[in-house]
Amino acid sequence: MNFELIIKEAYQKINNLDDKGETASYIPELAQVDSGNFGVHISTINQLDFGVGNYNDKFSIQSIAKVLSLSLAYAIVGDKIWDRVGVEPSGTAFNSLIQLEADKGIPRNPFLNAGAIVISDILLSNLESPKEDFLEFVRSISNNKTLEYSNRIAESEKTTGYRNIALCNFIKSFGSVENEPSDIIDFYFDLCSLEMSCKELSELFLYLANNGQGISNKKSILSESQSKRINALMQTCGFYDESGEFAFKVGLPGKSGVGGGIIAIHPDQYAIAVWSPKLNKKGNSYKGMKFLEEFTTKTKLSIF
Ligand code: GLU
Repeated sequence: MNFELIIKEAYQKINNLDDKGETASYIPELAQVDSGNFGVHISTINQLDFGVGNYNDKFSIQSIAKVLSLSLAYAIVGDKIWDRVGVEPSGTAFNSLIQLEADKGIPRNPFLNAGAIVISDILLSNLESPKEDFLEFVRSISNNKTLEYSNRIAESEKTTGYRNIALCNFIKSFGSVENEPSDIIDFYFDLCSLEMSCKELSELFLYLANNGQGISNKKSILSESQSKRINALMQTCGFYDESGEFAFKVGLPGKSGVGGGIIAIHPDQYAIAVWSPKLNKKGNSYKGMKFLEEFTTKTKLSIF
């Protein structure tokens, strides 16, 4: 399979499209990003590394970090994690309060903000220095010591994130978290502020294409079954209220973030990262979705 040629051609085709998306502006710092950026990078199990466009530029990975926090919490507490969050798609907005009321404080899945807040609580209760230990975990997966949080992005969200603060307090009112809401939400905003390039993101996420085993450090991050389950959740819940559409058009497990990044996994083959900041109406990168659809159509490789 000539991934390089297919990626180059798909990139050119999608780059020429009129971008109908809008940059996320509810986190003020995200609105400052140059919306013309467009990068793609693939990392394969067979050690191919290839990128086009702005694939070396760092961006705010936002909700993509929820996969990493889920991985660490799952590795620490095992199947008990499913007593605290569900595994069903929601069909409602990622930051819905109504959903949480209906579900009596047990978030429907770990990729909703409410779910990620509960996962943050689990990490706070189980890590000695949560912010440092989580960063160390992320760095260790792909042996990349340069990965960092962005204080600028985290502060921007801390000063404007009223809805997430409300969600966190609401969950506390149900007794579904142990720690103080202000500590939980600070940690949640920190983990959402992680910055990576498409190259770093695809190298990092290769463990989910490799049955939970790190490639560069040969470390076991998750068991085979845990890795399969996280891929299943990405497939069913990874794209806000457009997860069905993503399965339908692209056919890979993945996760997107409001910074305009998307990571997609082909188990046993590759991880591919795309970044283009303008989002479609459902909150997923407009060009990112189009690119991945073109890519899996041309490669004829999807999990279906
Ligand atoms: N930090 C963002 C929020 O909580 C993440 C949203 C996202 O990327 O889905 O609103």
